[in-house]
Amino acid sequence: MLFYEEAAISVPIMCMQCEDPACMHVCPVGAISRDKNGAVVSNPKKCIVCKLCVSACPLGNISVSKVSKKIIKCDLCGGDPCCAKVCPSGAIKYEDATTANISKKKIIGEKFKNLFAEVEK
Ligand code: SF4
Ligand code: SF4
Ligand code: SF4
Repeated sequence: MLFYEEAAISVPIMCMQCEDPACMHVCPVGAISRDKNGAVVSNPKKCIVCKLCVSACPLGNISVSKVSKKIIKCDLCGGDPCCAKVCPSGAIKYEDATTANISKKKIIGEKFKNLFAEVEK
């Protein structure tokens, strides 16, 4: 979650399971792949915790657990996202990607990009 206190907004920044995932491309040991649900997932058995994927994600959607010392990344909960189930206002929905909703995401992304540019001025 990013907080922009000056603008009084908070925006959840979730993994986009990118079509061309920077996190996957930079991994030197092939520990990141796409699963059958379309999720970009990490394999802790292969991961050497070099953190290149953490730096590569343009949205800051990978972090390292202070407890397990392993990377943390959305894996769509195996195709049954817990975040969508527990969201009290129904703000999170899990829907199959269509051309229409990908276009909507891009439009919303552009709006936020422009809004953040205004906040940072
Ligand atoms: S972690 Fe970042 S780069 Fe990787 S799929 Fe998610 S949004 Fe894309
Ligand atoms: S931290 Fe792990 S998953 Fe990420 S780039 Fe390094 S080896 Fe790959
Ligand atoms: S609850 Fe599951 S689907 Fe939702 S953000 Fe976390 S890992 Fe991803």
